[in-house]
Amino acid sequence: MLPQLHRQPWMDSDIETFRDQVRRYIAAEMAPHLPVWREQGYIPREVWRPFGEMGFMLPELPEEYGGAGASLAYQLVVQDELTRAEMPNNVTVHSIASHYIMDFGTEAQKQRWLPKLGSGEMLVGIAMTEPGCGTDLKAISTRARRDGDHYVIDGAKTFITNGFTCNLLIVVARTGEAGSRGLSLIVLETENLPGFRVGRLLEKIGMPASDTAELFFDGVRVPADQLLGGVEGHGFKQLMGQLPYERMSIAVPAAAV
Ligand SMILES: Cc1cc2nc3c(=O)[nH]c(=O)nc-3n(C[C@H](O)[C@H](O)[C@H](O)COP(=O)(O)OP(=O)(O)OC[C@H]3O[C@@H](n4cnc5c(N)ncnc54)[C@H](O)[C@@H]3O)c2cc1C
Repeated sequence: MLPQLHRQPWMDSDIETFRDQVRRYIAAEMAPHLPVWREQGYIPREVWRPFGEMGFMLPELPEEYGGAGASLAYQLVVQDELTRAEMPNNVTVHSIASHYIMDFGTEAQKQRWLPKLGSGEMLVGIAMTEPGCGTDLKAISTRARRDGDHYVIDGAKTFITNGFTCNLLIVVARTGEAGSRGLSLIVLETENLPGFRVGRLLEKIGMPASDTAELFFDGVRVPADQLLGGVEGHGFKQLMGQLPYERMSIAVPAAAV
Protein backbone atom coordinates (compact mmCIF):
# COMPACT_ATOMS: atom_id res chain seq x y z
CA MET A 1 0.00 0.00 0.00
CA LEU A 2 1.15 3.52 -0.75
CA PRO A 3 -0.59 5.67 1.85
CA GLN A 4 1.21 8.89 0.98
CA LEU A 5 -0.32 9.06 -2.49
CA HIS A 6 -3.62 10.71 -3.17
CA ARG A 7 -5.88 7.96 -4.57
CA GLN A 8 -7.13 8.90 -8.02
CA PRO A 9 -10.71 7.98 -8.96
CA TRP A 10 -9.43 5.61 -11.68
CA MET A 11 -7.06 3.81 -9.32
CA ASP A 12 -7.93 0.28 -8.19
CA SER A 13 -6.07 -2.30 -6.12
CA ASP A 14 -4.57 -4.00 -9.22
CA ILE A 15 -3.10 -0.75 -10.47
CA GLU A 16 -1.84 0.02 -6.98
CA THR A 17 -0.08 -3.36 -6.81
CA PHE A 18 1.43 -2.70 -10.23
CA ARG A 19 2.56 0.75 -9.13
CA ASP A 20 4.26 -0.78 -6.11
CA GLN A 21 6.12 -3.29 -8.32
CA VAL A 22 7.27 -0.54 -10.68
CA ARG A 23 8.39 1.65 -7.80
CA ARG A 24 10.40 -1.15 -6.15
CA TYR A 25 12.02 -2.14 -9.44
CA ILE A 26 13.10 1.42 -10.23
CA ALA A 27 14.50 1.92 -6.72
CA ALA A 28 16.48 -1.32 -6.78
CA GLU A 29 17.60 -1.61 -10.39
CA MET A 30 17.69 1.87 -11.85
CA ALA A 31 18.09 4.59 -9.23
CA PRO A 32 21.65 3.56 -8.23
CA HIS A 33 22.80 4.17 -11.83
CA LEU A 34 21.14 7.56 -12.32
CA PRO A 35 24.22 9.68 -11.47
CA VAL A 36 26.23 7.90 -14.19
CA TRP A 37 23.40 8.17 -16.70
CA ARG A 38 23.12 11.90 -16.00
CA GLU A 39 26.83 12.35 -16.44
CA GLN A 40 26.96 10.52 -19.79
CA GLY A 41 23.69 12.01 -21.05
CA TYR A 42 21.80 8.80 -21.80
CA ILE A 43 20.41 5.58 -20.36
CA PRO A 44 21.89 2.55 -22.14
CA ARG A 45 19.33 0.74 -24.29
CA GLU A 46 20.06 -2.58 -22.49
CA VAL A 47 18.35 -1.14 -19.41
CA TRP A 48 14.99 -1.36 -21.15
CA ARG A 49 15.16 -5.11 -21.86
CA PRO A 50 14.58 -6.26 -18.25
CA PHE A 51 12.19 -3.33 -17.80
CA GLY A 52 10.19 -4.69 -20.76
CA GLU A 53 10.39 -8.26 -19.47
CA MET A 54 8.84 -7.06 -16.21
CA GLY A 55 5.91 -5.82 -18.33
CA PHE A 56 6.64 -2.15 -17.59
CA MET A 57 7.67 -0.91 -21.02
CA LEU A 58 4.32 -1.01 -22.80
CA PRO A 59 1.67 -2.54 -20.53
CA GLU A 60 -1.06 -1.22 -22.84
CA LEU A 61 0.21 -3.32 -25.76
CA PRO A 62 -2.59 -5.67 -26.94
CA GLU A 63 -2.15 -9.35 -26.10
CA GLU A 64 -1.92 -10.43 -29.76
CA TYR A 65 1.38 -8.53 -29.96
CA GLY A 66 2.80 -9.97 -26.75
CA GLY A 67 1.51 -7.33 -24.35
CA ALA A 68 -0.75 -7.44 -21.33
CA GLY A 69 -3.55 -5.49 -23.02
CA ALA A 70 -3.77 -3.32 -19.91
CA SER A 71 -5.52 0.02 -19.73
CA LEU A 72 -3.56 3.19 -20.43
CA ALA A 73 -3.60 3.88 -16.68
CA TYR A 74 -0.83 1.29 -16.28
CA GLN A 75 1.41 3.10 -18.76
CA LEU A 76 0.76 6.41 -17.05
CA VAL A 77 1.58 4.86 -13.67
CA VAL A 78 4.95 3.73 -15.11
CA GLN A 79 5.62 7.26 -16.38
CA ASP A 80 4.56 8.73 -13.05
CA GLU A 81 6.85 6.41 -11.07
CA LEU A 82 9.83 6.96 -13.37
CA THR A 83 9.39 10.71 -13.03
CA ARG A 84 9.00 10.56 -9.24
CA ALA A 85 12.35 8.73 -9.18
CA GLU A 86 13.78 11.60 -11.30
CA MET A 87 14.20 9.34 -14.34
CA PRO A 88 13.90 11.08 -17.71
CA ASN A 89 11.25 10.72 -20.39
CA ASN A 90 12.52 7.85 -22.56
CA VAL A 91 9.60 5.51 -21.79
CA THR A 92 7.12 8.33 -22.36
CA VAL A 93 8.45 8.85 -25.88
CA HIS A 94 8.69 5.09 -26.43
CA SER A 95 5.00 4.78 -25.62
CA ILE A 96 4.06 7.80 -27.72
CA ALA A 97 5.94 6.47 -30.75
CA SER A 98 4.71 2.89 -30.25
CA HIS A 99 1.12 4.14 -30.38
CA TYR A 100 1.72 5.34 -33.95
CA ILE A 101 2.50 1.76 -34.95
CA MET A 102 -0.39 0.35 -32.88
CA ASP A 103 -2.88 2.77 -34.40
CA PHE A 104 -1.67 3.27 -37.97
CA GLY A 105 0.65 0.33 -38.80
CA THR A 106 -0.30 -2.33 -41.32
CA GLU A 107 -0.81 -5.77 -39.77
CA ALA A 108 2.63 -6.82 -41.05
CA GLN A 109 4.23 -3.74 -39.47
CA LYS A 110 2.51 -4.40 -36.16
CA GLN A 111 3.64 -8.05 -36.14
CA ARG A 112 7.17 -7.02 -37.05
CA TRP A 113 7.78 -4.28 -34.49
CA LEU A 114 5.26 -4.27 -31.65
CA PRO A 115 6.40 -7.46 -29.81
CA LYS A 116 9.97 -6.09 -29.74
CA LEU A 117 8.76 -2.70 -28.52
CA GLY A 118 6.86 -4.38 -25.69
CA SER A 119 9.78 -6.57 -24.65
CA GLY A 120 12.26 -3.70 -24.64
CA GLU A 121 14.35 -5.33 -27.38
CA MET A 122 13.61 -2.24 -29.42
CA LEU A 123 13.51 1.36 -28.23
CA VAL A 124 11.65 3.76 -30.53
CA GLY A 125 11.75 7.51 -31.09
CA ILE A 126 9.81 9.89 -33.31
CA ALA A 127 11.58 12.53 -35.37
CA MET A 128 9.43 15.50 -36.34
CA THR A 129 11.43 18.60 -35.36
CA GLU A 130 14.06 19.98 -37.74
CA PRO A 131 16.69 22.71 -37.34
CA GLY A 132 14.35 25.08 -39.22
CA CYS A 133 10.97 23.66 -38.24
CA GLY A 134 9.41 23.08 -34.82
CA THR A 135 5.85 24.12 -34.09
CA ASP A 136 4.94 24.52 -37.76
CA LEU A 137 5.09 20.85 -38.76
CA LYS A 138 3.62 21.62 -42.20
CA ALA A 139 7.01 23.12 -43.13
CA ILE A 140 9.03 19.91 -42.70
CA SER A 141 11.71 19.69 -45.37
CA THR A 142 13.30 16.27 -44.78
CA ARG A 143 12.52 14.51 -48.03
CA ALA A 144 11.77 10.86 -48.84
CA ARG A 145 12.03 10.23 -52.58
CA ARG A 146 10.60 7.00 -54.00
CA ASP A 147 13.17 4.94 -55.89
CA GLY A 148 11.78 1.58 -56.99
CA ASP A 149 11.06 -0.52 -53.92
CA HIS A 150 12.72 1.98 -51.59
CA TYR A 151 12.48 5.49 -50.21
CA VAL A 152 15.66 7.57 -50.17
CA ILE A 153 15.70 9.97 -47.22
CA ASP A 154 17.71 13.21 -47.05
CA GLY A 155 17.52 15.83 -44.32
CA ALA A 156 18.14 16.57 -40.67
CA LYS A 157 16.22 16.42 -37.40
CA THR A 158 16.97 17.89 -34.00
CA PHE A 159 15.87 17.65 -30.34
CA ILE A 160 14.98 13.97 -30.86
CA THR A 161 14.37 12.11 -27.60
CA ASN A 162 15.81 8.55 -27.70
CA GLY A 163 17.71 9.75 -30.78
CA PHE A 164 21.04 8.42 -29.52
CA THR A 165 19.84 5.11 -28.07
CA CYS A 166 16.85 4.03 -30.17
CA ASN A 167 17.08 1.24 -32.72
CA LEU A 168 13.71 2.09 -34.29
CA LEU A 169 12.82 5.58 -35.46
CA ILE A 170 9.67 7.04 -37.00
CA VAL A 171 10.70 9.84 -39.35
CA VAL A 172 8.31 12.51 -40.57
CA ALA A 173 9.33 13.21 -44.16
CA ARG A 174 8.02 14.92 -47.24
CA THR A 175 6.97 12.43 -49.90
CA GLY A 176 4.88 14.85 -51.92
CA GLU A 177 3.66 18.39 -52.38
CA ALA A 178 4.40 21.34 -50.07
CA GLY A 179 2.15 21.70 -47.01
CA SER A 180 0.42 19.18 -44.79
CA ARG A 181 -0.75 16.76 -47.47
CA GLY A 182 2.76 15.93 -48.64
CA LEU A 183 3.97 14.37 -45.39
CA SER A 184 4.42 10.70 -44.56
CA LEU A 185 5.76 8.70 -41.63
CA ILE A 186 8.51 6.20 -42.41
CA VAL A 187 9.88 3.68 -39.90
CA LEU A 188 13.64 3.11 -39.85
CA GLU A 189 15.58 0.31 -38.22
CA THR A 190 18.59 2.47 -37.44
CA GLU A 191 21.31 -0.03 -36.51
CA ASN A 192 24.06 -0.11 -39.14
CA LEU A 193 21.87 1.86 -41.54
CA PRO A 194 24.05 3.47 -44.23
CA GLY A 195 23.63 7.24 -44.49
CA PHE A 196 22.06 7.58 -41.04
CA ARG A 197 24.14 9.48 -38.49
CA VAL A 198 23.53 10.58 -34.92
CA GLY A 199 25.02 14.02 -34.22
CA ARG A 200 25.50 15.77 -30.90
CA LEU A 201 23.76 14.79 -27.68
CA LEU A 202 22.16 18.13 -26.79
CA GLU A 203 22.67 19.55 -23.31
CA LYS A 204 19.49 20.72 -21.59
CA ILE A 205 18.59 22.53 -18.40
CA GLY A 206 16.64 19.46 -17.23
CA MET A 207 16.48 15.70 -17.78
CA PRO A 208 20.25 15.32 -18.24
CA ALA A 209 19.96 11.51 -18.51
CA SER A 210 17.56 11.75 -21.47
CA ASP A 211 19.31 11.51 -24.82
CA THR A 212 18.13 14.40 -26.97
CA ALA A 213 19.99 14.24 -30.26
CA GLU A 214 20.57 15.63 -33.69
CA LEU A 215 19.99 13.17 -36.52
CA PHE A 216 21.22 13.31 -40.10
CA PHE A 217 19.95 11.44 -43.15
CA ASP A 218 22.16 11.33 -46.21
CA GLY A 219 20.65 9.16 -48.94
CA VAL A 220 19.23 6.68 -46.40
CA ARG A 221 17.55 3.84 -48.30
CA VAL A 222 14.49 2.34 -46.60
CA PRO A 223 12.30 -0.46 -48.04
CA ALA A 224 8.99 1.05 -49.19
CA ASP A 225 7.04 -1.38 -46.99
CA GLN A 226 8.28 0.63 -44.00
CA LEU A 227 5.97 3.52 -44.91
CA LEU A 228 3.70 3.62 -41.84
CA GLY A 229 0.23 2.41 -42.83
CA GLY A 230 1.35 1.86 -46.42
CA VAL A 231 -0.25 4.99 -47.87
CA GLU A 232 1.65 8.19 -48.72
CA GLY A 233 0.46 11.62 -47.61
CA HIS A 234 -1.25 10.57 -44.36
CA GLY A 235 1.58 11.78 -42.09
CA PHE A 236 0.08 15.05 -40.93
CA LYS A 237 -3.26 13.41 -40.17
CA GLN A 238 -1.45 10.68 -38.23
CA LEU A 239 0.50 13.31 -36.25
CA MET A 240 -2.65 15.26 -35.38
CA GLY A 241 -4.30 11.99 -34.31
CA GLN A 242 -1.53 11.14 -31.82
CA LEU A 243 -0.60 14.56 -30.45
CA PRO A 244 -3.42 14.50 -27.85
CA TYR A 245 -1.90 11.31 -26.33
CA GLU A 246 1.51 12.96 -26.49
CA ARG A 247 0.21 15.99 -24.60
CA MET A 248 -1.30 13.76 -21.90
CA SER A 249 1.96 11.83 -21.68
CA ILE A 250 3.75 15.09 -21.07
CA ALA A 251 1.15 16.33 -18.58
CA VAL A 252 1.40 13.25 -16.33
CA PRO A 253 5.19 13.41 -15.82
CA ALA A 254 4.93 17.21 -15.54
CA ALA A 255 2.47 16.77 -12.66
CA ALA A 256 4.80 14.17 -11.13
CA VAL A 257 7.69 16.66 -11.27
C1 LIG B 1 13.65 18.03 -24.16
C2 LIG B 1 13.04 18.05 -25.53
C3 LIG B 1 12.72 16.86 -26.16
C4 LIG B 1 12.16 16.89 -27.44
N1 LIG B 1 11.88 15.69 -28.05
C5 LIG B 1 11.43 15.70 -29.33
C6 LIG B 1 11.21 14.47 -30.03
O1 LIG B 1 11.38 13.36 -29.49
N2 LIG B 1 10.81 14.53 -31.32
C7 LIG B 1 10.60 15.71 -31.96
O2 LIG B 1 10.25 15.68 -33.11
N3 LIG B 1 10.80 16.89 -31.32
C8 LIG B 1 11.21 16.91 -30.04
N4 LIG B 1 11.42 18.10 -29.38
C9 LIG B 1 11.22 19.35 -30.10
C10 LIG B 1 9.92 20.05 -29.74
O3 LIG B 1 8.84 19.32 -30.23
C11 LIG B 1 10.03 21.46 -30.34
O4 LIG B 1 10.94 22.16 -29.53
C12 LIG B 1 8.69 22.14 -30.38
O5 LIG B 1 7.92 21.58 -31.40
C13 LIG B 1 8.84 23.65 -30.61
O6 LIG B 1 9.59 23.88 -31.72
P1 LIG B 1 10.79 24.95 -31.70
O7 LIG B 1 11.66 24.63 -30.52
O8 LIG B 1 11.42 24.99 -33.05
O9 LIG B 1 10.08 26.33 -31.38
P2 LIG B 1 9.36 27.31 -32.38
O10 LIG B 1 8.47 26.56 -33.31
O11 LIG B 1 10.40 28.20 -33.00
O12 LIG B 1 8.47 28.14 -31.38
C14 LIG B 1 9.06 29.04 -30.43
C15 LIG B 1 7.94 29.76 -29.69
O13 LIG B 1 7.15 30.53 -30.60
C16 LIG B 1 5.78 30.15 -30.55
N5 LIG B 1 5.22 30.18 -31.89
C17 LIG B 1 5.68 29.51 -32.98
N6 LIG B 1 4.92 29.79 -34.04
C18 LIG B 1 3.95 30.64 -33.64
C19 LIG B 1 2.86 31.28 -34.29
N7 LIG B 1 2.59 31.09 -35.58
N8 LIG B 1 2.06 32.08 -33.54
C20 LIG B 1 2.30 32.28 -32.23
N9 LIG B 1 3.33 31.70 -31.56
C21 LIG B 1 4.13 30.89 -32.26
C22 LIG B 1 5.78 28.72 -29.98
O14 LIG B 1 4.57 28.42 -29.31
C23 LIG B 1 6.96 28.79 -29.01
O15 LIG B 1 6.57 29.32 -27.78
C24 LIG B 1 11.93 18.12 -28.10
C25 LIG B 1 12.25 19.32 -27.45
C26 LIG B 1 12.79 19.30 -26.18
C27 LIG B 1 13.12 20.59 -25.53
